[in-house]
Amino acid sequence: MSATHISLKPFNTFGLDAACQTLVEANSVSELLQYCLAFQKRQTPFIVLGGGSNLLLLENYQGAVIRIQLKGISVHEDSSFYYLTVAAGESWHGLVKYCLSHHMAGLENMALIPGTVGAAPIQNIGAYGLEFADVCEWVEYLELPGGDIKRLAASACEFDYRESIFKGELRDKAVITQVGLKLAKAWQPRLNYGPLQHLATDSVSPQQIFDAVCDVRRRKLPDPKVLGNVGSCFKNPIVSAAQYAQLHSEHGDIAAHPLPSGEVKIAAAWLIDKAGLKGKRFGGVGVHDGQPLVLVNHGDATGTDVALAVQSIRARVQSLFGIVLALEPRTYGAQGERRI
Ligand code: FAD
Ligand code: NAP
Repeated sequence: MSATHISLKPFNTFGLDAACQTLVEANSVSELLQYCLAFQKRQTPFIVLGGGSNLLLLENYQGAVIRIQLKGISVHEDSSFYYLTVAAGESWHGLVKYCLSHHMAGLENMALIPGTVGAAPIQNIGAYGLEFADVCEWVEYLELPGGDIKRLAASACEFDYRESIFKGELRDKAVITQVGLKLAKAWQPRLNYGPLQHLATDSVSPQQIFDAVCDVRRRKLPDPKVLGNVGSCFKNPIVSAAQYAQLHSEHGDIAAHPLPSGEVKIAAAWLIDKAGLKGKRFGGVGVHDGQPLVLVNHGDATGTDVALAVQSIRARVQSLFGIVLALEPRTYGAQGERRI
């Protein structure tokens, strides 16, 4: 654990060239515990990193980074369910493929989401009408500062739209080590999202849904290996029925989806597009042409460019629609998490 100046560029999918002072890999829970306790004892601040696909490193970080490399998948079953125990460092998309190849359906709508299994509960990842909370049975974590291992039932994880207790009360107090998933043997396809609606409910296979999701994502989203990005930069805002009615009266073509709560989810991509920001550049950061919810790194983006882009998009959308966009990825500065 020698302290140096280590670039994190290869470890974040936006490709920001920020550095940290120490970088270590935790390959087991005991190694993870050892690192956490040692950093705490030395009063070295630290953050944990999975695949780096949902964070923006705005500055060099004056602390240590622990890469989560815990591996392993085990399965048991009863007459109704498959129960999976999956280590935090497994690739999420790798897990989706593993399940399909072992004839366990239920994750296919969330194919091709980058990153690790341990990060999935943090923002309750979701896509095409399925979210992590729908398949989660429990989440196990190392509690900080003490280092005890705790297990939370899914019902206690406070899962919500791209939210969980790990972004709230347990922020910076929990390093997720493994998760428990429960997949029903009586599989029901979820086909309500546009690109899946052409598939036939009574005959579609999990593999066909997987293929359709991978196909649309490959066509629509920039590949981080080619054009750095962290997926959607903003959450889709949720507004009251009254606010939606007002917006709809002013913008008849607004893209929105009613929620069971009576509120309405507005497509943030539509707001950004309508604000004329598609393709707009802020230094090395650009608003993606195909999906304006995604900010991309045109090669030499800096943390300052990212902050400028986020602030400018927010201000323009707010002035036009009265909606304040919330950032989806976590943002870090020199001292740790730093909100833009
Ligand atoms: P990281 O970026 O490494 O970390 C994200 C945050 O979680 C950080 O604050 C980190 O400290 C914390 N963290 C990571 N691991 C742990 C752990 N074990 N314990 C505690 N804290 C931890 N997201 C969606 O929800 N749906 C999508 O469809 C989707 N599509 C995407 C498409 C692209 C092209 C990209 C680049 C991103 C997309 N994302 C999507 C966002 C991202 O992939 C997910 O949020 C993913 O879960 C992040 O995983 P990660 O391992 O890369 O997390
Ligand atoms: P899209 O299909 O163009 O739809 C735009 C938005 O409308 C989506 O964000 C989605 O919200 C919502 N939506 C569409 N159909 C819906 C339905 N039947 N019921 C309720 N809401 C609906 O979206 P997209 O950008 O191509 O993304 C497709 C899916 O992949 C979405 O689920 C999206 O969340 C996910 N995705 C996420 C990220 C990320 O980084 N978070 C990146 C890429 C894709 P939701 O976002 O709530 O689903």
